[in-house]
Amino acid sequence: MRQEERDRRRAQAERSLDGLREAGVVGVVLPWVDTGGVTRVKSVPLQRLPAAAAWGVGMSPVFDAFLFDDSIVAGRFAGSAVGDLRLHPDLDRLTVLAAQPGWAWAPVDRYDQDGRPHVQDSRLLLRRLVDELAADGLTARTAVEVEWALGLADLPEGSEAGAFVPALTGPAYGMTRHVEVSDYARDLLTALTAEGVGVEQFHPEYAAGQLEVSVAAEDPVAAADTSVLVRHTIRAVSARHRFRASFSPKVLAEGVGNGGHVHLSLWRDGANLMSGGDGPAGLTPDGEAFVAGLLAHLPGLLAVGAPTVASYLRLVPSHWAGAFAVWGLENREAALRFVTGPAGSRQSAANVEVKCVDEAANPYLLLAGLLAAGRAGLASGARLPDPVEVDPGSLTDEGRRAAGIRALPSSLEEAVRAFEADDVLTGAYGEELSATIADVRRGEVAALVGCSPEEVATALRWVH
Ligand code: GLU
Ligand code: MG
Repeated sequence: MRQEERDRRRAQAERSLDGLREAGVVGVVLPWVDTGGVTRVKSVPLQRLPAAAAWGVGMSPVFDAFLFDDSIVAGRFAGSAVGDLRLHPDLDRLTVLAAQPGWAWAPVDRYDQDGRPHVQDSRLLLRRLVDELAADGLTARTAVEVEWALGLADLPEGSEAGAFVPALTGPAYGMTRHVEVSDYARDLLTALTAEGVGVEQFHPEYAAGQLEVSVAAEDPVAAADTSVLVRHTIRAVSARHRFRASFSPKVLAEGVGNGGHVHLSLWRDGANLMSGGDGPAGLTPDGEAFVAGLLAHLPGLLAVGAPTVASYLRLVPSHWAGAFAVWGLENREAALRFVTGPAGSRQSAANVEVKCVDEAANPYLLLAGLLAAGRAGLASGARLPDPVEVDPGSLTDEGRRAAGIRALPSSLEEAVRAFEADDVLTGAYGEELSATIADVRRGEVAALVGCSPEEVATALRWVH
C-alpha cells in the first residue's frame, strides 16, 4: 500500500469522525472471517480510527489456521506463532451497528507489514476475482440467504450447558410463530434497515425455532460483507431479547438444518445473462456456461461452502439442502435451483441458487470459488445436462444411475479430496490458501473423529 493510499484512507476516516460521534459511536469493530468461517475481530476507540485506516491494526496470521474450538492446526502455510499482519478497515462499508449502541463496524482487508496484500486474505481474493470478471465485461450480482435457529439464552433448570431450547413453538411458516417473535422481529428489521441492509423478506422457517431473512442482490464483496453484518445484527438483537441465535448447519442432530444459500446472476452491458436466451430455462449461452461451470465444480466447492463436519449432517437427501450434483428449475432438492422469477420480471429476477452450502462457510472464500467455477465454465463454453425435475432422493440407485445423477460428497474428508483434485479451484485460491483450506478441514475432521452426530452438533452449535 502506497503512502498516497494511506493518506487517502486517513482523510476518509477523519471525515467520518463527526458523524460517528453524533451517532454516539465510541469504538469501531474490525472484523474478518477466518478459513474455518469464524468471524474474528479487533476493535479501536473512535479516535484511533484514522491511524487504523492508514496503518492498519496488528493481528497474527496464525488465525488462518484456527479451528472451530480455537485450537491451531500445524498447516503447511499457516499456524506459525511468528509474524504479523495489518487489518485495514474498508471505510466504504463503515456502518453504525444499530443493535450494539456505541459501536460502528468496518470489514477489513489484511495486508502484510510491507503493505502487500496477504496471500491468504479471502476478502482481497474475492475483490480480485470480481475485478477479473469485470475485465471481461461481466458483473455478478449475489445475495446470501440467512437462516438461523432461535434458542433461549436462559435455559430451563436441568438443561445441559450449551443446549438448544427453541425460543418459539408454532408451526413452520406459521403466523403463530410470527406472533411469538413479533417484537424481536420488529427490532431486527429496524436494526437492519438502519444499517442500510436491503432486507427483502423475513419469515419463520421449517426447523425448530428457525427463522430466515433474505436480502437484495449486490456486488459479491458487498454481499459477503452483508452476510457477516446481518448475522452480527441477528446475534446482537437476539441477545437483547434474551435469545441466542445459532447459524450452525445442524443445530440439532435430527431434522432440517440451516442453509446459507447463495443467489447469483451474471450480467453484461446491463443485461442479465440468466434470462432471455434460447438455452434451457431461458439461459443465454454465457449464462448456461457459467451455471455449468458451477455444477461441474460443486464437489470441490463443498470443501469451502460446507466446511464443517456438521455440514454433512445437514447435506442429506430430502431435507431441501441439495445433496445431489444436479440443477433443476425451481427444484428445492437440486444443489443448483434455477429461479426464473415471475413472467414479466425475469430479465431482472432470473438467478441460480446454490443450495448445498451453509453459513459455516467464509462467504468471501465461497463467493470467490463460485466465481472461479463459473468463469471456468465460460472459458470452456460448458453446457448443462438436462434439468432434474424430481427429488433425486426419491429415485432408486438404479434410477439415479440411469439419469446420470451423482450425489455430492457425503463427508468433509470426501469434499477435501474433491477440492484438492480440482485445479480450477486450487488455482483460483493459490497454493498457500488451498493448502490452508485443506489443512484446516482435516484438522476439524481429526478433532471430531469418532463423535456421534449429537456430539458434532453440540460442538459446533454456537461457533459460526
Ligand atoms: N433449511 C434448508 C437448508 O438446510 C433450506 C430450506 C429452504 O429451501 O429455504 O438448506
Ligand atoms: Mg429457507
